[in-house]
Amino acid sequence: MIVNNDVPMRRTAIDRQITACKGAPLPDDDLLDGHLRSLLDEAASAISGIEFGEATNGQPAQITAERPGYSSTFDPAYVSATGEPRAFRTSALLHEILHASCDRAYVKPDIQELDFCNFHVVVPAPVTDQAIIAELKGQRETVTANIGKAGKALEADRGRLISDTTRAHLNARFTYALALPNVHYDTVLFELLVYLALQNAQASPTFQFLKKLSVEAADRRGDDSGRIQAI
Ligand SMILES: [Zn+2]
Repeated sequence: MIVNNDVPMRRTAIDRQITACKGAPLPDDDLLDGHLRSLLDEAASAISGIEFGEATNGQPAQITAERPGYSSTFDPAYVSATGEPRAFRTSALLHEILHASCDRAYVKPDIQELDFCNFHVVVPAPVTDQAIIAELKGQRETVTANIGKAGKALEADRGRLISDTTRAHLNARFTYALALPNVHYDTVLFELLVYLALQNAQASPTFQFLKKLSVEAADRRGDDSGRIQAI
């Protein structure tokens, strides 16, 4: 077999959806952080279980569980208030794709209320609402603390790789994650790593801190139990 090392590594199924939603193209793999590459591999393997389409719901991208699969839509009229439009479309799309992977990876009681839950919810039988609520509460507090630390890392990062608009966008997305910490953590971290890569900011301390959080989340969902760790 002849291997041509000049051919860049691409994930065509992802590229196709990015083109469909008019997002910014991803850099080739040799320009991407190794952890980000592994998340893109994870997204690429989740993509075949998702139906994609357009909607007029005012959402940049939105996934719904339609067991056994998922459907993900985007509204072409949506304009992000803070993010660079094309970079945000790409990062929002990848956020939704990772939701499908997380939904399958996390171990939790099979009830609709826990669709897309970003934690393992392991409670002793018989499963009660109280036990689930208690399990969620502790992990939600850790998510909140970790995102608070990400906000501090961003605040302390005054390097030239983080523009004022990127800073405002990241803060808006932290707020978004905090509004529903049971659901938006792994996905927002992935989204922001993608967004920062598209802003050529992978070398920033902010990227490195978000990567640390994201590595913990990826390791955890690759395992079959374990609570979120404080970073
Ligand atoms: Zn989400």
